[in-house]
Amino acid sequence: MDQLVANQQLWYAKCITMIIGLTIDHFSGHGCAPIIRPMKGVADLHSHSRYSDGTLAVSELVTLAKSRGVNLFALTDHDEMRGLEEAKRCAHEQGMAWVSGVEVSAQTNSTAVHVLGLRVDEHDAGLHDALHKTREKRKHRAQRMSDSLAAAGIADAFQGALAYAPNPDLISRTHFARHLVDSGVCGSFGEVFSRFLKPGKPGYTPHEWQPMTEAIALIHGAGGRAVLAHPGRYELDPYSGIDGLLRTFTDAGGDGVEVVCAAHHPSEWAQFGALARKYGLLASIGSDFHSHAESRVKFGDLPRLSPNLKPVWHDWPEAECLYVKSNA
Ligand code: AMP
Ligand code: MN
Ligand code: MN
Ligand code: MN
Repeated sequence: MDQLVANQQLWYAKCITMIIGLTIDHFSGHGCAPIIRPMKGVADLHSHSRYSDGTLAVSELVTLAKSRGVNLFALTDHDEMRGLEEAKRCAHEQGMAWVSGVEVSAQTNSTAVHVLGLRVDEHDAGLHDALHKTREKRKHRAQRMSDSLAAAGIADAFQGALAYAPNPDLISRTHFARHLVDSGVCGSFGEVFSRFLKPGKPGYTPHEWQPMTEAIALIHGAGGRAVLAHPGRYELDPYSGIDGLLRTFTDAGGDGVEVVCAAHHPSEWAQFGALARKYGLLASIGSDFHSHAESRVKFGDLPRLSPNLKPVWHDWPEAECLYVKSNA
């Protein structure tokens, strides 16, 4: 009889262990268990200033984010960290929690990707050197793009784009797009990219960005977390698709993925949330704000991350402002 009771107890114990295990697995996303804490604050960890292809000065950008209710904010200019000190100072002056960031251009196989470095040390020499090299290569690329546009009948596009780049060290396709719209060649940004600036189009020239593995290592070297920006926006390998990209990113040591961002349709937020959990990646959120005229959402208008996801800021002291304080 005692043996029967003991067996029964063992069976109960096994069942309970299994249920707990399944529950943990269900919420863990393969080792990425979320810490479910009620949130009251707004995080926005992706934005651009005039130091890259945004149109607002750093102080205007920070003031705008603050006025729209953002509590935890990051400036993430493309391949450039010159705005970070000023942005940090402005954020602190306005009582907004601050994260130093950068959006690093990279590639994996032949896919160009953007890796956000979040909470990086903005003085890290290795990251500075690598970004400097990327900016130099951008200049040569811009010249090649201009030559290619000239061959398609559009003269002097380099000078035209440069006039739209307040930081002449950072020329991007966005500056070409602004020039082509304002000079009347195209009616909209969408038209510029679909007619000229995308792979296979007359103004596009192939370019070698640094390998994604190196970009991740550089961000880690600067003490930051590497987050794959807007995963829904890439020209993916048709065979391996988004799963292949996220697997490669995870295997390369990537930490997180932008789940909620303006570049995605709301229906994609759940899809990328599920993929973050599948690959054990931390989740991030950002508007990718560039300008009032060009941005799809305003600061503060994106929905919060699902509580089933582990946020990229889960262990950052400055992110405490996002949470409801428990009285315990
Ligand atoms: P680049 O880093 O020089 O290749 O330029 C990429 C930038 O161009 C992105 O950060 C966006 O700001 C902008 N961009 C890329 N594709 C589009 C598009 N289809 N419509 C509008 N802007 C785009
Ligand atoms: Mn941009
Ligand atoms: Mn980007
Ligand atoms: Mn961006």
